[in-house]
Amino acid sequence: MSQEDWMWQMQNRITDLATLKNHITLSAEEESVFQAAQEQFSFSITPYYLSLLDPTNPTCPIRKQVLPRSSELVRAENEWEDPLAEQIHMPIKGVTHRYPDRAIWYISHICAVYCRFCTRKRKVSKPTETPNREEWREALEYFRNHTEIKEVILSGGDPLTLSDQHIDYLLGELSAIDHINHLRIHTRYPVTMPMRITDSLCGIFSKYFPLYIVTHFNHPKELTQEVKVAVTKLIQKGNVTLLNQSVLLKDVNDTVEILEELNYKLVRFGIKPYYLHQCDEVYGSSGFVVPIEDGIRLMYDIRGRMSGLTVPNYVKDLTGGGGKVLLGPNYLIEKKESSYLFKNFNGGEYEVTH
Ligand code: SF4
Repeated sequence: MSQEDWMWQMQNRITDLATLKNHITLSAEEESVFQAAQEQFSFSITPYYLSLLDPTNPTCPIRKQVLPRSSELVRAENEWEDPLAEQIHMPIKGVTHRYPDRAIWYISHICAVYCRFCTRKRKVSKPTETPNREEWREALEYFRNHTEIKEVILSGGDPLTLSDQHIDYLLGELSAIDHINHLRIHTRYPVTMPMRITDSLCGIFSKYFPLYIVTHFNHPKELTQEVKVAVTKLIQKGNVTLLNQSVLLKDVNDTVEILEELNYKLVRFGIKPYYLHQCDEVYGSSGFVVPIEDGIRLMYDIRGRMSGLTVPNYVKDLTGGGGKVLLGPNYLIEKKESSYLFKNFNGGEYEVTH
């Protein structure tokens, strides 16, 4: 197996401090918190993604996404284990059905690389959470019986952790359900392990048009030549539509220049910028949070200088499970001491912290 093989990348992931230290110089802070953080949320990085990381610079934007920092060990008052209340809207194991017309199905809880800001760190990286065959059968039965469901979103963890054969089976079963209008997959593998996008996988995708794939690029450094090859394959051989959602992350992508470069490059590669997310209020996320006011200002500057095609919607998934809302000056009613009051789409009001 070569480094170009995704299974090699999976098998050679770095997951412990001693091996990591053979590849990069850790700052004193990174080294001291590594073990404590790993006890709460695993560490893992592919050799490919590691090659994008600056081995000596603690401010590297790739490194900031994957290496634990001391802020991760802090649990602020506004931080939750399950900020989007996905568990309480789970009619059966592994399926969140919060909006009538769509459901999220978590088919793998494994990722090649673990992002320190992950909303689902409560269960991601824990293999026991991954649904078994009996749970697949129950979920498929649920989708068949709920005719209001128009879209199933395969998520995780990373759903592309599954074998081609299993992905083919699940897409086949879902697309055979008459009331399902289209399918969507959320994956970060085009970012962290682009070699997962093989000819064989694209051949499977091409059978299930219309298929939407939502990627998760946060920084222009992630858009490499390897990614360009993978993305071109997805579009030309897989016949998929590609969208990207980024998370606005402090000291990673919170400048006009970085967001401009990221979004232009995404469009150049063939990916439409879809959402820029305000970081979810998951425990240990305070080190990544950009104040909403700064995010609104950034978006205002971006809108003034970039083609609309390259501009994502800046959104917040409301803590507590209220759904996604647009953030922008047109929606802001009032800034309070520790929260913001926004207008809702239907004329109501909602309040968000920080
Ligand atoms: S790829 Fe997604 S699910 Fe996996 S750790 Fe990162 S944010 Fe969480």
